[in-house]
Amino acid sequence: MCTTCYGGAPPLRRRHFLSAAAGLALAASAPLAHAAGGAVSPDEALARLRAGNQKFIAGPQLCEADLVQQRGRVAKGQSPWATILTCSDSRVSPELIFGGVGLGELFVARNAGNVPDTAVMGTIEYGAEHLGSPLVVVLGHQRCGAVAAACEVVTKHMKLPGSIGPMVEAIVPAALAVKGKPGDFVENAAHESARRSAGRIATRSEIVGHLAHEGKLKVVAAFYDLDTGAVDFMS
Ligand SMILES: [Zn+2]
Repeated sequence: MCTTCYGGAPPLRRRHFLSAAAGLALAASAPLAHAAGGAVSPDEALARLRAGNQKFIAGPQLCEADLVQQRGRVAKGQSPWATILTCSDSRVSPELIFGGVGLGELFVARNAGNVPDTAVMGTIEYGAEHLGSPLVVVLGHQRCGAVAAACEVVTKHMKLPGSIGPMVEAIVPAALAVKGKPGDFVENAAHESARRSAGRIATRSEIVGHLAHEGKLKVVAAFYDLDTGAVDFMS
């Protein structure tokens, strides 16, 4: 393994060899004074996200970062203090909605519908175990197109083209679970899907489960309101 690419970090354990072999630019190095994932507790990370979102709601103009200075600080390594799984939706940018979080602070996995598939599970495990990220947030959002498609599969038996169908299929159980309940079907399904995904990550990953048992990691579900900019942490 090229130690330069990994900032001189300890070698990955055997179960991480795939990501290392793939040449991911996931550098781990000595903890950073400002963004040391391993030095931040799960509750402190959650408090930072809450405060950042309040900052975003109150005054987005404050979300300006000195990116040049940040780039230099994290170029040799990263210690992100939170991992965010969210939708690829262009309106849901974690670094912005959490108050202008800078380079090297959030470890982010995104796909349409924020589905914890195999690649995402591996990403989350890498962030938790190797980079020391103490918090995993599954962030669903209002008017999610992928969730809306899953709802249409449920109500209209809609067939989706290409790989979109199998991707959306993972959200269908959440849509089925809330079908017919009071409120907006798509929003209810998005909440349910985020909750289920958080539960799946916490219970099906041995790595996450072990760290959570030791009090070093939390997994929470959250929902982003496109209209207000507010993130509601559900758990
Ligand atoms: Zn979405």
